[in-house]
Amino acid sequence: MRESLQRLIELQKVDAKLIEIEELRGSLPQEVDGLKKDLTDTEETLKESEGKIKDIDKKIREIEGNISQGSVKLEKYKEQLYAVTTNKEYDALTHELETMQGAINESENQILDLMEEKEENEEIASNSKTLLEEIQQDLKSKSKELKKRISETKNVEVDYLKKREKITPDISISLISKYEKIKDAKNGRAVVPVVRGACGGCFHRLPPQLVVEVKKMNKLIHCEACGRVLVSHNEESDN
Ligand SMILES: [Zn+2]
Repeated sequence: MRESLQRLIELQKVDAKLIEIEELRGSLPQEVDGLKKDLTDTEETLKESEGKIKDIDKKIREIEGNISQGSVKLEKYKEQLYAVTTNKEYDALTHELETMQGAINESENQILDLMEEKEENEEIASNSKTLLEEIQQDLKSKSKELKKRISETKNVEVDYLKKREKITPDISISLISKYEKIKDAKNGRAVVPVVRGACGGCFHRLPPQLVVEVKKMNKLIHCEACGRVLVSHNEESDN
């Protein structure tokens, strides 16, 4: 057990360094990811509004075509009106004329509605374009900064990852999985030294008998308050 505990201590040291590197990169990786998502979303919105504008233009052209055809017919009806000889003919023609005029009016209203819809989409498209430029600029500078920080820390990170690979095969899978669970739950610190009779993780005062047990390093002992693995202070500060 002593050996396992010593390896666990080594592993904790390596992980502490890896966490330090992670912290040096800060929130940049998440920020870059977030910006990339914003970029895709905004591009999608822009594409959608531009597609709608195209559809609206097509509809407007169709309706305008109908209106001009209708107007030609309307003029024809008006001319025919002079030539009618009976009331019946007159009534029928007036009816046709009114129906046609009604259809033209309705089409004109449709165009007004479509123009309004088009304006709304043009505004969305223009806002999206502005936003897109802002996001692209932000993304460019943050990606650059992240790349710089990664390259600065990459070699050190690789070294520690290699050390980690060397240590882990010598620790039992069940111990590693316990370690990982505590590490995830406790901000990256799963193995802590006993400091002046207290847990070095949560500072909970430990019973003296437990401190003696920890010093022996012959079994896995958890802090009763936070659950971290306790090791002797000397062991932890070696190397
Ligand atoms: Zn504790």
